[in-house]
Amino acid sequence: MLVGSTKITKGTSDGRMLMDMRERAARDPNRFWAEQASLLEWFRSWDEVLYWNPPFAKWFINGLINASYNALDRHTPSKGDKVAIYWQGEDDDERRSITYRDMHREVNRVANALKGLGLRKGDRVTIYMPMVPELPIAMLACSRIGVIHSVVFSGFSAGALADRLNDSRSRLIITADGYYRRGKVINLKDNVDSALNACKSVEHIIILKRLIDGSSNASSSKGRSDVPYIDWHDIVDDQDANCEPEMVESNEPLFILYTSGTTGKPKGIVHSTGGYLTYANATFRWIFGIRDEDVYFCTADIGWVTGHSYVVYAPMLNATTIIMYEGTPDYPSVHRWFELIERYKATIFYTTPTALRMLMRYNIEYAKAHNLSSLRLLGTVGEPINPEVWLWYYKVVGEERCPIVDTWWQTETGAAMIANAAGIELLPMKPGSASIPLPGIDAVVVDDDGNEVRGEKGYLIVKRPWPGLMLTIWGDDERYKQVYWSRFSNAYYSADYAIVDEDGYFWLLGRADEVLKVAGHRLGTMEVESAIVAHQAVAEAAVIGKADAIKGEGIVVFVVPKQGYADYNELRVSIMKHVENTLGPIARPEQIYFVGKLPKTRSGKIMRRVLKAIVNNAQIGDTTTLEDEASIDEVRRIYEEFKKVTG
Ligand code: ATP
Ligand code: MG
Repeated sequence: MLVGSTKITKGTSDGRMLMDMRERAARDPNRFWAEQASLLEWFRSWDEVLYWNPPFAKWFINGLINASYNALDRHTPSKGDKVAIYWQGEDDDERRSITYRDMHREVNRVANALKGLGLRKGDRVTIYMPMVPELPIAMLACSRIGVIHSVVFSGFSAGALADRLNDSRSRLIITADGYYRRGKVINLKDNVDSALNACKSVEHIIILKRLIDGSSNASSSKGRSDVPYIDWHDIVDDQDANCEPEMVESNEPLFILYTSGTTGKPKGIVHSTGGYLTYANATFRWIFGIRDEDVYFCTADIGWVTGHSYVVYAPMLNATTIIMYEGTPDYPSVHRWFELIERYKATIFYTTPTALRMLMRYNIEYAKAHNLSSLRLLGTVGEPINPEVWLWYYKVVGEERCPIVDTWWQTETGAAMIANAAGIELLPMKPGSASIPLPGIDAVVVDDDGNEVRGEKGYLIVKRPWPGLMLTIWGDDERYKQVYWSRFSNAYYSADYAIVDEDGYFWLLGRADEVLKVAGHRLGTMEVESAIVAHQAVAEAAVIGKADAIKGEGIVVFVVPKQGYADYNELRVSIMKHVENTLGPIARPEQIYFVGKLPKTRSGKIMRRVLKAIVNNAQIGDTTTLEDEASIDEVRRIYEEFKKVTG
């Protein structure tokens, strides 16, 4: 089984300190969270820590705070010369180092430019930019004047952009003419042009000329002629470098961010200012034990929540030096991330299982070609990490020196919820388990009736609000109640399936609505996928259930083989046997299909619902966040061909 196999202990701590902290938090949560909030600077302190009107939580009532002030002004007097961002363009020659003083100046200028355009507290601005420093600058500029930002991942199409612009009714778009991806120019402005026609709320567009070959046509609008493009530098550079930070009530929204769309249509998650910042800041310290000399490299795109919380807000609140990379991990070659770790002497590296599975497909020697000795801590987020992949990460990247923190959380939770708090005290690591809930987080696993269970699979819920909890779904309180708070009474429903082992460790087994029901047994997708990935020939696997009159559901598997395996018939038999040996005959797949690529979201998560729809002949549903349409065509083709052959 997936659960409870290996245990790796580092250091000599007995976990006492962490347990004390968790007990303290449980005994008096309001006091505990007030202490965490006090790590930030407030213009006015709060009257009440928590007002809980289920399922709506308000934190630090009447406290006045500003995100950009906390992220920049607090450090500039003493740490103005410290590098905030080491930025690397896709082209190796393109590099920038931006200090905290630079950030402060640019954020203030942009904030003044936004004010000049008439933007006021509570207005929405959509930011549609590639991974360039101007993206965090734009976010912090919004927060400086109390404007709510909605960052839309730059890989999204015009249609996805238009949906989000309309849902948030943004008055302004901040964008770039384009960017570089695998050596090609991606033209963002074309997408903005075509999205605009359908978006009446937009009054202005600020455009950064990112492309260096002069091929862009940044100033002319092919969209709505009444909405001119304003050049970033034309409107920003002459602004005053001082802009008074708006004092924002703690529960005013800081941002809207849409979920990844793995299980359905994305939801517009709204986060508060004071509660969110308190929680992002606290968890960053607990998990990474961040030090002044750290060089921190989180590979997430800022278009996802990991990028919001752990590339922009939490690191900047701590005056951390970050590495930011424009391109993909495998371009110009799979050496890219390792080169950056070596060049900037990164001490912390935080990435996703999907990226690790991709890197693992290649010969491991390339990682060893680099000096990774600066690293002290590794992290993962986004999906359950297969134990096989965890061990590879631990040995090859971490050289068995660096602990790994697996962080479970969601866009809705603001920041990490279950993770080994290495910054407080590292607990023994179990490859594949996210370990235990962080202090103040009352997460448990329950059965169908809501009874807490241990050693038994069930649903992950959180029984008490925490400061990072979302405020609502943008413009849809009812949907917020219904999606997260109606499944179990008075508890936040995560929609993830999990099991807690005898040490209290949490094992995430997949999405609750993707659980396989085979002959009276329930299997999480993760249990079967991890068994398959442990087969030497398998790089990636996705499992889904196919309706079966006798068994309930049969297990259907899609496998991406590693390079160099050609005899699929032999491989099929060998994988079936392997699964049977690992999980028992119950988990024996009914069929295995070999594909070159799995359908994934643009944040790298496997979209099982797409596979399930193809196999069960159903509607595919929302695919706006799909990474590559061609992956669907390939799956469909291989599935249909196979059906023809086998009848
Ligand atoms: P949607 O809600 O639109 O279907 P999504 O759930 O993929 O998309 P995110 O908020 O980006 O959107 O992802 C959160 C989910 O990612 C979690 O619910 C969980 O299923 C998965 N996840 C994140 N981190 C981990 C982790 N460390 N271990 C296991 N699963 C994780
Ligand atoms: Mg989700």
